[in-house]
Amino acid sequence: MFKRIVALCIVAVAAHGLAAAAPLNVAATTATFADLVKTIGGDYVEVSYIAPPKFNVHFIEPRPSDVMKVKKADAFAHAGLDLELWSAPLRDAAGNRRVMKGGAGDLDLSRGVALLEVPDRAVSRAEGDIHLFGNPHYWQNPANARIMAATIAQKLSELDAAHAADFAKKFATFQAKLDAKIAEWQAKLAPYKGQEVIGYHNEWPYLMQFLGLTMGQFLEPKPGIPPGPKQLGALTDYAKSDKVRGIVTSVYYSDKATKTLSKNTGLGFVTLSQNVGDVPAATDYFAMFDYNTEQLAGLFAGGK
Ligand SMILES: [Zn+2]
Repeated sequence: MFKRIVALCIVAVAAHGLAAAAPLNVAATTATFADLVKTIGGDYVEVSYIAPPKFNVHFIEPRPSDVMKVKKADAFAHAGLDLELWSAPLRDAAGNRRVMKGGAGDLDLSRGVALLEVPDRAVSRAEGDIHLFGNPHYWQNPANARIMAATIAQKLSELDAAHAADFAKKFATFQAKLDAKIAEWQAKLAPYKGQEVIGYHNEWPYLMQFLGLTMGQFLEPKPGIPPGPKQLGALTDYAKSDKVRGIVTSVYYSDKATKTLSKNTGLGFVTLSQNVGDVPAATDYFAMFDYNTEQLAGLFAGGK
């Protein structure tokens, strides 16, 4: 029996040796980015991510096991900007030159994306603001996923030129599915074009842009600053103007202020999936938009 197991192991090792080089090891900051990298890389990548779903990506505290993920990574996929306030110290701790800013494996997904809310003057973090370089939540417009997926395909092809054709093929498949789904998602919300909702954190401008909706008021008085009585009072007054149709929040924010505002104003609220895995239905990038558009359509259909 023992001999047989040894023999099987040898066969397995030999078979592996005959296969192509080991898959590229990619560490992504979020489950959303990991999903996109896996979609383009297929069997030629091994992907891990750092921010667990259902947590606020801005405020993750990486663990020693995350440092190890980045240490052995061939590429590091991240939002850039200041979504991951912890990514520079994490990369420093890992000491992996490949994935440092400007390194061959630095996969900055903001490349080529038309950013919203880029400040026209230097903003200080002292004011508590955590969107200093423009709004970093850009994967919430599926049109940007086309750019992000192209950036991923290009980077993977640079790092593993032997499989460039495979990555290009996967990208084309992704793009075709995305085009079909974009039409479907926009059609679902088309009857509600121009409607306004209040957000908790300013993390949905790209989704609003994509669906032709408006969101200009937030429970957080500034991104990263929790709501207080003053803000709740101001929003209650604002909602009375009758322009607003509902409230949008995420799983990682306390429901307390949202429920108070909902009670004070009679507005319904929905909890959307900011990243893959935030809600059970958001099993991948496409499923996340299926869910978010369904929730929003339900909110508007329910009326005030
Ligand atoms: Zn944010």
